[in-house]
Amino acid sequence: MKKNYHTHTYRCGHASGSEEDMVVQAIASGLDTIGISCHSPLPYFRLFMIRSFGYVRSIFAAKFLTKWIVADGFGSRLPYRTKNEHLQIIKELKEKYKDQMTIYAGFEAEWFVQYANYFQSLLDNKEVDYLILGLHYDRYNCMDRYYLRISDDASLVRYGQNACYAMDTGLFSYFCHPDLFMSTKAEFNETCQKITRDICHSALKNNVPLEVNAGGFRRGLKQIGDHERYPYPHDEFWKIVSELEVPVVLGLDAHAPEQLCKEEYDQLEAYAKRLNLKVIDTFEFKKGTTKSV
Ligand SMILES: [Zn+2]
Ligand SMILES: [Zn+2]
Repeated sequence: MKKNYHTHTYRCGHASGSEEDMVVQAIASGLDTIGISCHSPLPYFRLFMIRSFGYVRSIFAAKFLTKWIVADGFGSRLPYRTKNEHLQIIKELKEKYKDQMTIYAGFEAEWFVQYANYFQSLLDNKEVDYLILGLHYDRYNCMDRYYLRISDDASLVRYGQNACYAMDTGLFSYFCHPDLFMSTKAEFNETCQKITRDICHSALKNNVPLEVNAGGFRRGLKQIGDHERYPYPHDEFWKIVSELEVPVVLGLDAHAPEQLCKEEYDQLEAYAKRLNLKVIDTFEFKKGTTKSV
């Protein structure tokens, strides 16, 4: 266990530990590289939400109004107004701990096409070293479209299409928990197989590694259809990844300092070994294409 590029802080609203807490724990756990990758802040998020959810629907959906508009989506990602402070702290930590470890600044970003130019600007302005792709929501950042709750084929197909489109942009250095769409799906049917194959082919074409994510283990075993299993990683998904020899990164997806630990990493490593995955621990930081999408 040496490198982890997937680390959150308390700023995401559903994690604990400051930027420095994470770095200090990572050093204590023997890591030589850490990437801090909070859920990406999004400018003009309220406007984006109302537009994508629909003006009329927004007025009548009370939960939507309170959680996503009044509270500005609190709890789902780093608030935009704290972005500069957060990135400045990481910059200072890079310097302070430079003899002990390499620290990178990143964001875990949802693929919302409306934000493509913004994501590109984060890389162009060197505000972050890398972006990782993390798809959690179908179309907009809202809980009733959360992939840990929905499993109809049409939504899953959109997940696959979004993933491939996003990987084509060259903005994302890897794709985290790509099998999240299987979280509540009872059967790995033909549609799921096709989505998986499409994701793998896009990953190979664009040289984007796929991440086996420890967050799914942390969610615990669940009864899903006829099987008791973790929401992710999903064996059938990773069997196809293995067969197609797509490069794989292991990600702790730490949401608290104590999750930067050897036990969780060992679990990931054992999983990768069982599925015979091609694990890598360094990869290219992609810089996008600067073409508008
Ligand atoms: Zn995620
Ligand atoms: Zn994450």
